[in-house]
Amino acid sequence: MLYYSTRKNRKATGVSFAAAALTGLAPDGGLYVPETLPPYSPGVRNSLGSMTFQDIAFETIKPYVTPDIPDAVLGDLVQDAYSFDAPLLHVGDRLVLELFHGPTAAFKDFGARFMARAFAYLRRGEDKALHILVATSGDTGGAVAHGFYGVDGVKVTVLYPKGQVTPLQERQIAGLGGNVSALAVEGSFDDCQRLVKTAFNNEDLKKRLVLSSANSINVARLIPQAVYYAAAAGKAFTGTIDALKTGEAVGKFRAVEKQPITFCVPSGNFGNLTAGLYALEMGAPIRGFIAATNVNKSIPDYLETGYYEARFSKATISNAMDVGSPSNFERLTAHWFSLKELRRMVRGVSVSDDNTRKTIAEVHKTTGYFLDPHTAVGWRGADQVYAEHNVPTGPLAVLATAHPAKFAETVQPLTGPIPIPPSLSKAIERKPNAQTIPAEISALLEALS
Ligand SMILES: *Cc1c(COP(=O)(O)O)cnc(C)c1O
Repeated sequence: MLYYSTRKNRKATGVSFAAAALTGLAPDGGLYVPETLPPYSPGVRNSLGSMTFQDIAFETIKPYVTPDIPDAVLGDLVQDAYSFDAPLLHVGDRLVLELFHGPTAAFKDFGARFMARAFAYLRRGEDKALHILVATSGDTGGAVAHGFYGVDGVKVTVLYPKGQVTPLQERQIAGLGGNVSALAVEGSFDDCQRLVKTAFNNEDLKKRLVLSSANSINVARLIPQAVYYAAAAGKAFTGTIDALKTGEAVGKFRAVEKQPITFCVPSGNFGNLTAGLYALEMGAPIRGFIAATNVNKSIPDYLETGYYEARFSKATISNAMDVGSPSNFERLTAHWFSLKELRRMVRGVSVSDDNTRKTIAEVHKTTGYFLDPHTAVGWRGADQVYAEHNVPTGPLAVLATAHPAKFAETVQPLTGPIPIPPSLSKAIERKPNAQTIPAEISALLEALS
């Protein structure tokens, strides 16, 4: 598979998976996109409902990494990366796809764990360590830190805005040590991102270190996220829902066999949604998507008006989605040129903090299920879309992108105590150990020396 930049003359910029993954961003500043989205073989497509998650991961990722990662290596890699489940459950009147059973209790573990293992393989035998620089507003940093923790030949530096991540997120980012360093930047998330970008363009630093990025623009994080969509769509299509959680799905959202599913995706930078579209294009039985954002709604507005405007981000209680200028917009338009085509597959919707809080309280009251603020945006967004539009029936699944205990400060006052999963109790016990730096490039360069 070749990868092209979203910007310049496409045919002139084709690179391998290894190059696209290890450099992150194309030299012209664009994002890498695969040249095609290869369809599943009929055999695989018809078996998605019965295959193991690891086998679906293998079949989904394989065409994108050939020939750089041989089949046998990929097989071991997905076994090792995906040692946890992505259950599809009935909750109240719909399905929920729980993506928070990885080590940092957010869906970003799926991408980060694959990326870390892929990088370790692609860099085998090199004597200089690969240095990952990543800016985070909270969840990415923890997932990347855990993904790469203890991986040979890789060093990680995570930049986060000091005092603006939750205490738990800070422990996930800065509590590991080893090959993971944390920098608490006296500034905003935008400052962190600016520092990372400036560092990547610093000729001196590029001579000293082999640098790479690990945010959601990296294809190595994006592609593995297509896997859980295909797995869940297969399960819904064959009627093999994992377990009854809190009541049977009823009415219009019923999982009727042989019906393609609609996913509602809580969205910020739109990497997750892009991966879902990859799964649809590859032939997984998916009807379409609802892209639910908080008030940072550049893309829902684009879908409605046809006019795209990058904005400054506004702070909300679903802070991992506070993105005013979603990077993956460029990928969406590179793959699906026409607005009409995109509209056919995706409906946009935006949810206020007020309605997010109301939803967390209501869903807990009626079903006993705890939604984190991001998942609650998805739940409510689906309600808003179904109320306004005449949407076809068929199963609806909301992606649960984080465990509610990760955002206990917001959720608990609305629901009462949340049971804490073991991965998070372990993180709570760690002591964060970060170096504080001013939001200046000289300070970052010094910290990296
Ligand atoms: C990152 C994140 C999102 C947004 O995902 P994108 O791929 O950036 O759209 C949603 N929910 C949670 C919990 C996240 O950590």
